[in-house]
Amino acid sequence: MKVTVAGTGYVGLVTGVCLAEVGHEVICIDLDEIKIRMLNSGASPIYEPGLEDMLVKNLEGGNLRFTSSPKLAYNQREVIIIAVGTPENPDGSANLSYIDSVSQDIAEHITEEVIVTIKSTVPVGTNDRVKELINSRKPPHLQVEVVSNPEFLREGSAIKDTFEGDRIVIGSANQQAGDIIEDLYSPFKVPIVRTDIRSSEMIKYASNAFLATKISFINEIATICEKVGANIEDVAAGIGLDKRIGNQFLQAGIGYGGSCFPKDTKALVQLAGNVKHKFELLESVIKVNNNQPRLLIEKAKAIVGELKGRRVALLGLAFKPNTDDMRESASLVLAKELIESGSIVSVYDPIALENARKVLGDCVKYCTSIDEAIRGTEVTFIGTEWKDIKEYPINRFKKLMDTPRVFDGRNCYSLEEAVEHEINYVSIGRESVL
Ligand code: NAD
Repeated sequence: MKVTVAGTGYVGLVTGVCLAEVGHEVICIDLDEIKIRMLNSGASPIYEPGLEDMLVKNLEGGNLRFTSSPKLAYNQREVIIIAVGTPENPDGSANLSYIDSVSQDIAEHITEEVIVTIKSTVPVGTNDRVKELINSRKPPHLQVEVVSNPEFLREGSAIKDTFEGDRIVIGSANQQAGDIIEDLYSPFKVPIVRTDIRSSEMIKYASNAFLATKISFINEIATICEKVGANIEDVAAGIGLDKRIGNQFLQAGIGYGGSCFPKDTKALVQLAGNVKHKFELLESVIKVNNNQPRLLIEKAKAIVGELKGRRVALLGLAFKPNTDDMRESASLVLAKELIESGSIVSVYDPIALENARKVLGDCVKYCTSIDEAIRGTEVTFIGTEWKDIKEYPINRFKKLMDTPRVFDGRNCYSLEEAVEHEINYVSIGRESVL
């Protein structure tokens, strides 16, 4: 099919490249000309395992193109996928200005009947609003259908998730338009859920809210474990074997971050508020999560005293492993708290240092190895469980740090290792080794 993807961020770019890979003729459009120039030269502006190779292959194969011109992008297309950002407004609601502006571009530049499908995460009712907006501005003789198709890929495994995801959700009011979107994705061999537009929009928010709830739940249990002498790893393994609960998303830590859970949970609270329902459960989930990184700093202060003037290392900055995305990263909260408390901070991340520099500026020292970051420090914090951090030999903390104190926000090491190597080791939901 002739497909255009609007927005070449984490979702749009992966979607465009994967659709080209299965043989569709894809144009990706973005307003950011620097990104488009990079993409046309075969370089990916984001880090995502496997993406750049597939991008180059399909650019060279001729079924993938990038442009910043709406005229070129929306001319003679069968399907247009909207994957622009829906960031958070100051009140927590979803900012739909990018959705509105891309809808206007589409209405002004389409030359054929087309199906517009919204992959961006949007509040219930947005697909209907976009349909009205496009209908009010498009050439009157062209019919446009709008289909909801929320995205569930995870950064760090986005390509695998696109080809082997748990489900593709298609919400349509027009059966035929929904069928065409089903055909579009048929090469992916992923189970399809067909529903109405509003239920489809709600599935996305409810999924993210449920996953966020699981994380805040296990983090609360972890805090209680610390106080009663239980071990969260054993507790999570014990409850996760119950199939009704499942063993995923039960890792205690310094909380969820990223470009989705924080904003989508807040947007759902707002959405509920709009229909006069106070979503108390989700409000608590958000509150628990906001406090989670600070709990680790408090533990550190209780053990080592004030952090002012102390040399501190922070390992891992991305919001999770295998991505360079720093948006709403819990590590960033740790970094900011440490800077504010007057520590001398050195940071390490295998991929996200460049993005970190945009946020943290000159307030920290950027290190390209774990050795460099921890050498001569008194305290090390772990914020992201990258493979190289998890596999870093624990004895090196003793060798390189002035005093080997590790505050691990992602439970990367076993307590036995910490005892054996005489490291002061404080983690989440487990006994401290002091
Ligand atoms: P992003 O911020 O990485 O990328 C959005 C892109 O859209 C930017 O490159 C921007 O320049 C471009 N853009 C803005 N207005 C445009 C316009 N009028 N025409 C063309 N391009 C335009 O966003 P993202 O992380 O890819 O997320 C996109 C949407 O998907 C959001 O609604 C998000 O909530 C949702 N989502 C994200 C993920 C994820 O893991 N990142 C997962 C599932 C769903």
